[in-house]
Amino acid sequence: MTTFLSPETETFITHPHPPESVNCDVLVVGASPSGIAAATSSAKAGAEVILLDKEMGESFDHPANTFFDGMFFRAGLAVERDYVLHDLDGMHIVSPGGCVLDIPAPGRFIDRGRFDALYLERAERAGAELLRGEAKSAPLGGSGRRVRTDLGEIEARVVIDASGVDGLIARKEGLSPLRHPEDVAWAAEAVVELPGLGEERFFEYFVGSISPGWKATFSPGGGDSATLGVFVRGHGRDVRPFLDRFIEMFKKYKSADYDVDDMRIVSVNRGGDAIATLPGEIVSDSLMATGAAAGMSGMAYAMRAGTIAGEVAAGAVVSENVSKKGLLPYIRRWNREFGLEYRMGRASLETLRKMSDDEIDRLAAGLAKTDLDFSGSFFRKGLSSGIALARSRPRTIPTLIRSFAEG
Ligand SMILES: Cc1cc2nc3c(=O)[nH]c(=O)nc-3n(C[C@H](O)[C@H](O)[C@H](O)COP(=O)(O)OP(=O)(O)OC[C@H]3O[C@@H](n4cnc5c(N)ncnc54)[C@H](O)[C@@H]3O)c2cc1C
Repeated sequence: MTTFLSPETETFITHPHPPESVNCDVLVVGASPSGIAAATSSAKAGAEVILLDKEMGESFDHPANTFFDGMFFRAGLAVERDYVLHDLDGMHIVSPGGCVLDIPAPGRFIDRGRFDALYLERAERAGAELLRGEAKSAPLGGSGRRVRTDLGEIEARVVIDASGVDGLIARKEGLSPLRHPEDVAWAAEAVVELPGLGEERFFEYFVGSISPGWKATFSPGGGDSATLGVFVRGHGRDVRPFLDRFIEMFKKYKSADYDVDDMRIVSVNRGGDAIATLPGEIVSDSLMATGAAAGMSGMAYAMRAGTIAGEVAAGAVVSENVSKKGLLPYIRRWNREFGLEYRMGRASLETLRKMSDDEIDRLAAGLAKTDLDFSGSFFRKGLSSGIALARSRPRTIPTLIRSFAEG
């Protein structure tokens, strides 16, 4: 049997398992944001879909729990109150020397369990079968791929690998789904408690050597709860020492406002974020990769990518062409919607990675005096900030701000 948490009743719902048939049109590996979206769009388009996750029915305790509304809208999603824990007014980007850029951009801290349960329920309502199980490999065979799982073999016309940044299935089948796998940002994020800390209204992103290659983050989650995280590129997977340093720095930074010695670390999550990796080879015969597995980072954008992948997979099944060629419209559609934005995001983070703390301080001081126009669409905000950045430091950072907001 498989179970998941219903957002309406907060009780676990049980579903029959395994399915009557172990053949399907589309098998999605990973009930991640991208995988749930892929299963939903594929089922809505008429495909027989199985959504498989090794943790289906557990609490889905994924660390990603914040987003900006602009990115949600850009991905065609609506913000729903059911899962929002805390509303935020925007972000502060803090330079190493303490210069603060204040950027209005509404955002949310969410209950990730409720978020996943809501979208899982929609996937199921659309007709997808939810299964708890682990995929091991997906070699070509029959009229598609024969997916080896701990439940037995599932035959699928198309397999969508939405299994996260390690993209195990796509890699095992010979794809290199990340163009720059060495640029995964490895993260460690602590859930902390301190009276009143979670009530703050701005995310804070600290840049520079405190978290090389991207950012250290403070995300207020409402009440006494918040997360403190580091996302580091180029220093291996174990970034806990960066987190420990950041927590000490953060305590000093907040010491005038809180009794910081009372801060308690509740838990520490780890993982990889594909923010700067860009998609590599993400399509093969009867196989696609999406979301973090394909270098498409961030919950909202991963969901949009999954939606496109699911639609293309279902269309390929109907037109009886599940070859690589039949699945290529996925890449074309994704590139049209997001290609430029992701390439600019990577360029921004590459520039930031090469800057010294002094350079970042000077840039931030220049920007603090510039009259930035952050009104309008999220893309326009990115563009405005890019123009200002380019003015103050030629050849630099077209969409720095957007890159911060992405994960
Ligand atoms: C610490 C941290 C914090 C982050 N915070 C944010 C944030 O606040 N906001 C944001 O937008 N993004 C955030 N991100 C990025 C975000 O997690 C991803 O970009 C987003 O989840 C998209 O990933 P995904 O949906 O493709 O896969 P994931 O969310 O990684 O999910 C992969 C799923 O696949 C399942 N799975 C893996 N292997 C198998 C297998 N072999 N068989 C079956 N199932 C399998 C896993 O159980 C999991 O459920 C964060 C990342 C990290 C590491």
